[in-house]
Amino acid sequence: MPLIVQKFGGTSVGSIDRILMVTERIVEAKNKGNDVVVVVSAMGQSTNSLVDMAERLSPNPAGREMDMLLATGEQVSISLLAMALISKGYPAVSLTGWQAGIMTDTVHNRARIVHIHSDKIVNLVRKGTIVIVAGFQGITEDGEVTTLGRGGSDTTAVALAASIKADLCEIYTDVSGVFSANPRIVPTAKKLVRISLDEMMELATLGASVLHPRAVECAKKYNVRLMVRSSFSDEEGTLIEGDVDMEAKLVCGVTHKDHIAKITIKKFDALSSLFTILVKSHIDVDIITQCSDELSLTNLSFTVSIEDLGRTLDLLESNKTTLAFEELNTEVGLAKVSIVGSGMVSNPEATARMFTALASEHIPIKMVSHSEMKVSCIIPEDMSERAVRTLHSVFGFDVLLKEAVLH
Ligand code: ASP
Ligand code: MG
Repeated sequence: MPLIVQKFGGTSVGSIDRILMVTERIVEAKNKGNDVVVVVSAMGQSTNSLVDMAERLSPNPAGREMDMLLATGEQVSISLLAMALISKGYPAVSLTGWQAGIMTDTVHNRARIVHIHSDKIVNLVRKGTIVIVAGFQGITEDGEVTTLGRGGSDTTAVALAASIKADLCEIYTDVSGVFSANPRIVPTAKKLVRISLDEMMELATLGASVLHPRAVECAKKYNVRLMVRSSFSDEEGTLIEGDVDMEAKLVCGVTHKDHIAKITIKKFDALSSLFTILVKSHIDVDIITQCSDELSLTNLSFTVSIEDLGRTLDLLESNKTTLAFEELNTEVGLAKVSIVGSGMVSNPEATARMFTALASEHIPIKMVSHSEMKVSCIIPEDMSERAVRTLHSVFGFDVLLKEAVLH
């Protein structure tokens, strides 16, 4: 019997009516002869409300207590969904992250799943039970409740699908698939019928918010087939699987990420200590450019998200003696716009077209990063949406998609 994992996001379970709609989806999959494991997020904006309450009590709530609080959101939606299914005559059981055996590391608020003891789920599924698992949460070896970081339910679903060897992991959301650009910014954006896991990985990391990057990373590692589709319509979604079609050396999407800060440090010689310090504090450093002079003193620029800027500057200040830098500058109000597709290095024409397109719109490029799968430019944040529209039209998606991606 095919085994599928269905994941429903917060909007999809945002009200009692929507929970009823979700039960229809689950029942349909079950009636078609599938075994079904479901992962859900907290209802609607409830995680945000919990965060607000915590922040009213403390500007910097203790990580452990925050996890304890936020994990309650999903407990509401799993139990309601299980009740709804049971009342329709289907055997269902809800499991919190710890009941489902989702073991994580000890990093509160952004824990990573290290293992899933899936025997309990597998045994329930074998008996024909629909298992509803709380997304976004797990437990450490010491029995501490953890959460995986905002948007983490996608990761729970994919990790679970890998662990129970599901045939497909369906991500139900409020959009009908993965698009060539955010349709809110580019109304002519096209839905992709199929995309490789590598391309999705880049899109997700570079700002496409449809799937959590860590979920895609996990899907890639364990080769999980994903389908992103709308929970509000029967439209076919986007299938994400397998490798890039190496013949199609084309751009499959344009994406952007706002709220980026650039830090420049001048004249220092402790590159490795710098990054060791930042990594230890779980600061995600993004684009790095560096040049050294004949004395091997370095000028270095790197970007971090604006949320991490304060912490990064504090760390640099407090390690000033070790790092021995002369000058430090910060620039905020930046964004990263990226084109994603296979064979960027072997197809430098795409990079050239990107630079030309941005120049023709008088959008200054402050930093560039280039890899086989993408080209990213750091630009002013107030120009990011215009940059996305320009690039989407320059790369002629209407034509390219027919040739390369919509197969
Ligand atoms: N409820 C969590 C959040 O709002 C997890 C998720 O939705 O994936 O971030
Ligand atoms: Mg989400």
